[in-house]
Amino acid sequence: MSADPMATPRGINGQAPDVFHRGRWIPMQCHRDTDEVDFVVVGTGAGGGPLIARLAEMGYSVVGFDAGAWFRPLEDFASDETSQSQLFWTDNRLVTGDNPIAMGKNNSGKAVGGSTVHYAMVSLRFRPDWFLSRTKLGYGADWPVDWREMWRYYDIAERDLAISGPLTYPWGPRRPRYPYRAHEINAAGEVLARGAEAMGYDWVETPLATLSAPRHHAPSCVYRGFCRVGCSTNAKQSQLVTYIPRAVKAGAEIRDLAMVGRVEVDARDRATGVHYFRNGSWHFQRAKNVIVAGYAIETPRLLLNSATPRFPDGLSNSSGLLGRYLMVQSNQAVFGVSDEMIRWNKGPPSMTITEHWNYDDKKDFFGGYCWMSQGPLPVEWSGALSSGRNLWGQALRDEMSRYNHQVGLKMVGEMLPSLDNLVTLSAERDQYGLPVPLISYSWLENDKRMIAHALDKMQQSLESAGIADCWRQENDTNHLAGTARMGFSQQDSVVDADCRSWDIRNLWVCDGSVFPTTGGVNPSLTITALALRTADRIQTLHRQGQVTI
Ligand SMILES: Cc1cc2nc3c(=O)[nH]c(=O)nc-3n(C[C@H](O)[C@H](O)[C@H](O)COP(=O)(O)OP(=O)(O)OC[C@H]3O[C@@H](n4cnc5c(N)ncnc54)[C@H](O)[C@@H]3O)c2cc1C
Ligand code: SF4
Repeated sequence: MSADPMATPRGINGQAPDVFHRGRWIPMQCHRDTDEVDFVVVGTGAGGGPLIARLAEMGYSVVGFDAGAWFRPLEDFASDETSQSQLFWTDNRLVTGDNPIAMGKNNSGKAVGGSTVHYAMVSLRFRPDWFLSRTKLGYGADWPVDWREMWRYYDIAERDLAISGPLTYPWGPRRPRYPYRAHEINAAGEVLARGAEAMGYDWVETPLATLSAPRHHAPSCVYRGFCRVGCSTNAKQSQLVTYIPRAVKAGAEIRDLAMVGRVEVDARDRATGVHYFRNGSWHFQRAKNVIVAGYAIETPRLLLNSATPRFPDGLSNSSGLLGRYLMVQSNQAVFGVSDEMIRWNKGPPSMTITEHWNYDDKKDFFGGYCWMSQGPLPVEWSGALSSGRNLWGQALRDEMSRYNHQVGLKMVGEMLPSLDNLVTLSAERDQYGLPVPLISYSWLENDKRMIAHALDKMQQSLESAGIADCWRQENDTNHLAGTARMGFSQQDSVVDADCRSWDIRNLWVCDGSVFPTTGGVNPSLTITALALRTADRIQTLHRQGQVTI
């Protein structure tokens, strides 16, 4: 076991941790702060990771920064829920609004590889209509990218991440076969299937970013169920074990435990580099282009924190929309008890899915949702029982004794963008001396109607599958998006279709914050596809003389 990854940076002195071999290192090209690198990328997650890899593979000099640690999964990840909270972004954040968002493990990670190190690996495509939801479906905002182009990048992302999925996916246009076969489903997944069939809904094995057969140095999934606290086998295809090793091999440098506090802009409205805190002091890395990929709270926070006399409201905020249109996805659930032994924690948490997006259904809301089978680990489950059902002491112990018979369905639902759901800066300071974000969130009437619809359907489905004692977890939300939306003009958005700031042309945003709408399925594959597209767009614009390198 090497030194504590939370205390000492690992990406230093020309080497980086070899995540595939215990104790080994790989060479990594390192730059001086005074070198003016082609690209600095802030954040190495679902968006930043692939972008750094592709830019390096195109031959650009790139330094990626992450405030989190560079973990070695084979050595650092324990089969222990409580010890693994180190993966989450738990820095202070203030929340308000009618429905304040639960922070911490529920929504963002802090690690090289970003939130993908602890995400649940569900890898889904947006449907074509969702990119034109305003024009075609009458709500939200259109995306300035064509769904066909996005689908080409989904193909690449699915190959890069070796997604294991079903032979055919029942919803949306035809797509190529998934690169790896679907996983055998567990008993919790079978309950979803029984319930869906009883209600006449299609269901399918969930496309997952965990291996169903070995790949390079990684073995196939052994169904140990610790995916959301860090997979210690490397079966999970997070950015940490896919794009980041590719990036380093191609010549990128990754700086771990490096918190970026400010993007510097000169008198010609050009970003010149970033100020970052590492090893106990502040430094400045020069760059020709700066790309922010810190996710939907840290991205606007950094750009707001980088205000100058010329840009007093923050960088890339001439529209006044930076920090606005924050979206979560509704994540309500119905749980119950089966007569049969289920052992729902065995395997990835969501092994089967049904997308429920019936346009001809008599719905009284815009948008839609999917739901998936569940498999929380015991500590998480006891937390859900105490907060959701107010169970404590003996009552909680009694309920926990039925753990192996529990089942549940959880939705991922599309909540609509609202100008009033937003990230701003508070007066409080964090451990780096930076203003702490203040996050305000209130559900819209449409959101409430969608949640009510989903809860009824999920409960009917579980009861049709013979599940007893059903109860509803009504408050949960997850998956952030919005706050630096992409759009068609400088007035309606923060970045253009290439994820490039309208105001500062060598500043870019490449993460979930550019989403104009959040869709009715999990977002990561779309963030990754968009990042792959952004890298290609940058190269094209550079060749056309529109990007300065
Ligand atoms: C428990 C859980 C389960 C999930 N499961 C799924 C799932 O199954 N499928 C799915 O599609 N999505 C899932 N998600 C959501 C998914 O993980 C995120 O939507 C996605 O990773 C966001 O990508 P991103 O690139 O925007 O940000 P991230 O992946 O979060 O990466 C941002 C990175 O930037 C770093 N950073 C931020 N600010 C700074 C700064 N100022 N300086 C230096 N570094 C900084 C952070 O440390 C972080 O590592 C899940 C999320 C959670 C919390
Ligand atoms: S179930 Fe598979 S992906 Fe999840 S932690 Fe275990 S081996 Fe890793």
